[in-house]
Amino acid sequence: MKRNGDQNENLGVLPIKMKKIKARRKVREPRFCFKTMSDVDVLDDGYKWRKYGQKVVKNTQHPRSYYRCTQDNCHVKKRVERLSEDPRMVITTYEGRHIHSPSPDEEGSLASSQLNNFFW
Ligand SMILES: [Zn+2]
Repeated sequence: MKRNGDQNENLGVLPIKMKKIKARRKVREPRFCFKTMSDVDVLDDGYKWRKYGQKVVKNTQHPRSYYRCTQDNCHVKKRVERLSEDPRMVITTYEGRHIHSPSPDEEGSLASSQLNNFFW
């Protein structure tokens, strides 16, 4: 008889099932995107870029270009495309963060240093 009572008590203190919290999120590189009215597709931002890809964009004759920072161990990517509604506008998207300063051998124009301040 006593045992039965114990069992009932045990039933009453069933451990609460903890919901597994998915804490793991994919760490996304910070992105930065802006539009510029420019004839030149690749804006001089003080960094050196190497083109590694190009993609045809629907509804526009302007392809989308992909660039990668030429610096070793730096994995910043840049995407350049023209706005389909207004081809005078260039959309530049940066992905990642440079681990270095802009290339010193490049002529650092005032515009590019301003741009860099604007980014980070
Ligand atoms: Zn870089």
